[in-house]
Amino acid sequence: MKIQLLPSTFNEAGEATPEQRLTCYVIDDRVAVDAGSIALSVTEEQRRTVRDIIVTHPHMDHIATLPIFIDDLFGELTEPIRVYATQEVIDVLENDIFNWTVYPRFSELKNDKSKVMEYVPFRVGEEFRIAHLRAVAVNVNHIVPTVGLITTDGEHTLAFSSDTAETEEFWQLVNRTPRIDALLIEASFPDYLAQLAEVSRHFTPASLKKELRKMKKHKDADILTVHIKPSYREQVVEELKALKIPKLRIMEPGETYEW
Ligand SMILES: [Zn+2]
Ligand SMILES: [Zn+2]
Repeated sequence: MKIQLLPSTFNEAGEATPEQRLTCYVIDDRVAVDAGSIALSVTEEQRRTVRDIIVTHPHMDHIATLPIFIDDLFGELTEPIRVYATQEVIDVLENDIFNWTVYPRFSELKNDKSKVMEYVPFRVGEEFRIAHLRAVAVNVNHIVPTVGLITTDGEHTLAFSSDTAETEEFWQLVNRTPRIDALLIEASFPDYLAQLAEVSRHFTPASLKKELRKMKKHKDADILTVHIKPSYREQVVEELKALKIPKLRIMEPGETYEW
């Protein structure tokens, strides 16, 4: 199973830089988790192969270029782009993004071969299939309805916290999952901004360290930290390294991680 965090920031030469402004992961070149930078940063191959996208919550950094991705592909799609989300999130996308004002309602449109977009609602706690994967979502603790996820290809398994502060159900699910190869978990703000992290429902390195005690199993899982706010990146990275948690690494945009 391979995964990339797509880049969302580039230098003058057009090369990806480590700052993460948007969130979009691509698994096995086929499935995306969130779609912040999808239209900007997929490879040409991925543009042809990614047709299934899970949206964890409707914050702009997680959906920013979803409309553009579908727009780009409009004429050539032979199957719809499938957007998997809870009904609550689908309602926000339909009412506030694909509402004919901000962007066309692609779920009502087709090209000469196919519908161009289709919603696939899922319920938290119920496993669903997505391309070659199985996934299950749980509610996490963010300021809008947001899900964390566990997804598996039957052999390897990844867990995504999405955006969250202290939470319980996610860890219960992680602890009862037989195998976790990697945990992708957010660490948005430095420790001195703990209060801001709390009101916006995100982690700091210190609160993340405490939170990781809830992971009772899978001590050998890789821990990849993500969603570090670019303006505080240096400090957050320093604080994360100072935690000296074995297996904890900063996930680098554009790199491929494989299990
Ligand atoms: Zn968010
Ligand atoms: Zn976010």
